[in-house]
Parts: sequence; structure tokens; C-alpha cells
Amino acid sequence: MIFDVITLFPEMIKDYCGYSIMKRAVDNEIFSVNTINPRDFTLDKHKKVDDTPYGGGAGMVLMAQPYVDAYESIKRQENSATIMLSPQGEPLADCIVNELAKLDQIILMCGHYEGFDERIRDIIKPREISLGDFVLTGGELPALCLIDAVSRKINGTLGKIESADEDSFSNGLIEYPHYTRPREYRGLVVPEVLLNGNHKEINEYRLRQSIERTKTKRPDLYKKWLKNQ
Ligand code: SAM
Repeated sequence: MIFDVITLFPEMIKDYCGYSIMKRAVDNEIFSVNTINPRDFTLDKHKKVDDTPYGGGAGMVLMAQPYVDAYESIKRQENSATIMLSPQGEPLADCIVNELAKLDQIILMCGHYEGFDERIRDIIKPREISLGDFVLTGGELPALCLIDAVSRKINGTLGKIESADEDSFSNGLIEYPHYTRPREYRGLVVPEVLLNGNHKEINEYRLRQSIERTKTKRPDLYKKWLKNQ
């Protein structure tokens, strides 16, 4: 998998990918993360990438030419998708993450300031994905969230010890509670069933907990899960 990120702030992307599980996976060539900066594609001697909006209003708009040229400089793989990070897109969810993890290349378009000149959308025709109904200052955090979530689903990113099989949403439910040492902390004790080594009982307990939690915390998910039983 190759992630190609179009961004005015490549360091933000590179920094995040330089830590922990992400770093290990990049070092092991499980996936790669490239950055493409529209500023390197300006025809303007001041390297201008944004300008004031036609019609007036606050903020600056990303100019079409540097952004489209940056996009067109990327070598396309066969099995690839282009995604614009945008509060106007479909909300990111586990089913989309699973779908994206099957690709060979994801091109991520980060916006900034007021967003994109509309002709960037018209020309590139990306799929738009949102992190939720709120507005951030830039697309770098959403792009990193997407890279992180998708890369966890690629074979080899997580060690067995960090497996995603039982994570929230993988079976339509949210995950059961976890405990680690000590057995007792401030009078709160680890449930006995987790200490007895009986895996059948442990699995049954965990499933019950998952169902209960989903029912309480995410009744919308619980209804969907119930329908599919
Ligand atoms: N004026 C735009 C609007 O109201 O739709 C918002 C622009 S926002 C300040 C700048 C950039 O941050 C966007 O182009 C997008 O790349 C990113 N962004 C902001 N909120 C986002 C969200 N909820 N999901 C994904 N990307 C987001």
C-alpha cells in the first residue's frame, strides 16, 4: 500500500509516521507514506498557493493550478483511490476503512484555510471523506486518522499482540473492557472470570460485556447488530 498525501505541511504527516506502530510498519515496508507539496508546483515566483475568494468573504482559498499539478505528478497504481479530506464528505467508518485497506494506493488531498477552489473538485473528482460534523483547520489530521485506521487493517502492520480482530466494530459491537495488573486497585478488583484461565468462560463473558456496552453506549449500533443476528 502506498499513501500519497498532498499537503502544504508535509512535516506533520512525516512526524506522525515516525513513531510507534506506524514507524515499525513503514520501516518494515508494510506500507509507505509519500508527501507531495503543491507549493513545489506553483508557477508564481513567490510560491503562492492560496488567494482571496471571488465574491468576497473571510479566509484564503487553495488555488487550482498548484494543487492539480501536484496531483497529476503522482504516479497512479492500478488499484487506487483519490480521497479529499473534507467536512462535506461521507463520515469515515470501519466499513470504509476495510474497503480502502484492499487498495494498492490511496491519494489523500488535504485542504487548508477556507478549503479548495471548486475546480480542484471538478477536475480531480475525488471521493470526499469527513472525520465528522465539525471543522478543523486542515486536512492533515483527518488524513493521518485515515492512514492510521487503514494501515491497521493491512497484514503485517500490527503484531499478533496488537491484533485488530476483536477491536470495536469488527463484529458490529464495541469492545469488552480490559484489565491488567494489579488485580486490585483502589478497591476495584478484576472480574474473577478473567483469572481462572477458562477460555470458553472468558469468551462468553467478553461477548456479554460487548453486547451490554453496545446497548448502553451505542444503541444505534446495537439495533443494527440485533437485526443481523
Ligand atoms: N470552508 C470549508 C467548509 O466549510 O466546508 C472548511 C475548510 S477547513 C477550515 C480546511 C480544510 O480542513 C478542509 O479543506 C479539509 O481538508 C479539512 N477539514 C476540516 N474539517 C474536516 C473534517 N471534519 N473532515 C475532514 N477534513 C476536514
